[in-house]
Amino acid sequence: MSVEKQLIVFDFDWSMADQDTDRWIFEVLAPDLRRKMKDLKDDIQWTDLVAQSLREAHTRGIKREQIEHALRTMPFHPAMVRGVSKLKEAGKTTFLCLSNANSVFISTILQSKGLENLFSEIITNPAEWENELLKLRRRVDPSGPQHTCKVGCSPNMCKGEELTAFLERHGKDFDRIVYVGDGSNDFCPILRLRSQDIIFCRRHRGLQKRIEAEAKKEGLKCQIQYWAGAWEVEEMFGRL
Ligand SMILES: [Mg+2]
Ligand SMILES: [Zn+2]
Repeated sequence: MSVEKQLIVFDFDWSMADQDTDRWIFEVLAPDLRRKMKDLKDDIQWTDLVAQSLREAHTRGIKREQIEHALRTMPFHPAMVRGVSKLKEAGKTTFLCLSNANSVFISTILQSKGLENLFSEIITNPAEWENELLKLRRRVDPSGPQHTCKVGCSPNMCKGEELTAFLERHGKDFDRIVYVGDGSNDFCPILRLRSQDIIFCRRHRGLQKRIEAEAKKEGLKCQIQYWAGAWEVEEMFGRL
């Protein structure tokens, strides 16, 4: 099959980056808040819990510069930078980021890697600095209409609906879609992929478990390739 035009969709935490932004900054700056998040995660919606923890961090005097430094030094594999940069240069690939983190975490890290122009769109929870406080909201406002996902996406955002909406906006004529993901919330969007599309699934995490348990029942059509380290993603990109 000749591919003139392809879309690469990236989850961010543990897919493009080698860590989870929401958890990492608290592990670095306030491990007791990280513990509190672990204790509360079944009772409070995750995005709301991160927003609340950011307010608590602000109250105790944690500064914007400290959070930005923690993000810039978060593990991020150089092979990932090489792999995406090479594909971007080759010209036929559009990049989309689909993440449950937030706009500030993602843009801060991308800038520190020289990747600020990689993505055509970054679809995630909106955040903004208000002096030293990082204010974070759900992408789907809790007071408005909610998404209708039946596959188990968190209330803040359905990645499947977002992928469909992106394809409506940008034309659906991609010869191939490659989705790079690791988490259980990446299962919904890959159900919308076609037989010529590929999931690059990170091993030993929630997405692999859901594929093994639910792919047949849910009629997953795309091809599956597994990876563990970002150097393998670089290899897989080289074969596209
Ligand atoms: Mg992830
Ligand atoms: Zn969904």
